[in-house]
Amino acid sequence: MKLVLATANAGKQREFEALLAPVGFQLVLQSALGIDSVAETGTTFEANALLKARHAAARSGLPALADDSGLEVDALGGRPGVRSARYAGATATDADNNAQLLSELAGLPPERRRARYRCVLALVRSAEDAAPLIASGSWEGRIGIRPAGRGGFGYDPLFVPDDHDMSAAELPAAQKNALSHRGRALAALVASLTLHAL
Ligand code: IMP
Repeated sequence: MKLVLATANAGKQREFEALLAPVGFQLVLQSALGIDSVAETGTTFEANALLKARHAAARSGLPALADDSGLEVDALGGRPGVRSARYAGATATDADNNAQLLSELAGLPPERRRARYRCVLALVRSAEDAAPLIASGSWEGRIGIRPAGRGGFGYDPLFVPDDHDMSAAELPAAQKNALSHRGRALAALVASLTLHAL
């Protein structure tokens, strides 16, 4: 199955390619088709994932897969959430976002630094698909005291998964993909695709 992947995020792109290759999907990046990014105006991960998938399907005429994901920090009432990419401002880099997060959590002990990544995937067969496939996954952990590691992307240097004493950026890529919110959401999506194909 040929799918347009509706993301411009290179970190996500690498993870999707690694996770979907074994299932036989041929991924085409929306950027390779000259498709621009759509404004993420939704207030939930699901709304934004659907917006992105429908936009890519409308522009390409192909089925499209999108994710919306982010970090929810309990001590911040669930922020940055859907604003994770733009937490420190519209043009924020990953380093800016990480610095902002550390400054908002300054002085909090480990037990008050609980957080989770969440990912919602939307797969549409066409822009008007009335029954999109939606799947979600989450990954529990806490925010470390300082950044560690060079792998992954985004908040990974600060995210310490439960049952680990290293950050997500220190985990080998295959291990992150097996545990992560995105990996779990994709496993759920592939399971529901298999069900639908039966
Ligand atoms: P989106 O493109 O609106 O879904 O932005 C998601 C943002 O959430 C990313 O830019 C990162 O800041 C953060 N994020 C989502 N998934 C991950 C991950 O696996 N590792 C690190 N940061 C992530």
